[in-house]
Amino acid sequence: MTSPKLNNQEIYERIYAAISERRLLPGTKLSEERLAQAFHASRTRIREVLMRLSQELIVELHLNRGAFVARPSERDMQQVFEVRRALERAIAATLAARYGGQALAPMRGHLDAEARARAAGDRTELARLTGEFHVRLAEITENRLFSDNLRRLVALTSLVIAQYDAQAHSACPEHEHADIVEAIEAGDARRAEKLMLAHLDHVEAGIQPPKPPSRSLDFEQIFGTAAPDKPARQG
Ligand SMILES: [Zn+2]
Repeated sequence: MTSPKLNNQEIYERIYAAISERRLLPGTKLSEERLAQAFHASRTRIREVLMRLSQELIVELHLNRGAFVARPSERDMQQVFEVRRALERAIAATLAARYGGQALAPMRGHLDAEARARAAGDRTELARLTGEFHVRLAEITENRLFSDNLRRLVALTSLVIAQYDAQAHSACPEHEHADIVEAIEAGDARRAEKLMLAHLDHVEAGIQPPKPPSRSLDFEQIFGTAAPDKPARQG
């Protein structure tokens, strides 16, 4: 019995999912040979998939050293959020204009799944679902440019989180997703947009890399040579 042959798109999707779900962490080497074995595919096909992932900035290709899961810099992260804000405010407004007055059943189902993961304390699943929330919203616009780009940006966001905060499994703050869905269902485009922007600010703030201490070192205090509060000797 032979295992089913996967096409390039399926291989792409599996590697993509492993990276965005943080089963493959930033900096992991993606050996063509080992991937070819794992997927029962030729190295040529694996190379094509890795090339596509590198065009999407999810994988880095290094001459002679091969492919690695990307390690986004702090500047990359800022750029990711700049584009996410621009796209996702448009997505929220588009959906509010189109679906105002209706219940968004698929999003309600998704919110229930998030609530269950939260209640169960399953932080890995919650992190996955809260990223997926943003992709699902983009999908229901039925504009593939929204959904394809969001999928990519959410994957890059996961990479940044994995890099800065591998243990924390950051997830989106509670209630904010539900508030966005509510504003869309109410047909309030301005409010949906505003809530989305505030939400993305919170997500970005939550994954800032640790900053070096801002207070400059106080050598006098360190060496015990500081002048006492009340001068001991005076005159
Ligand atoms: Zn979110």
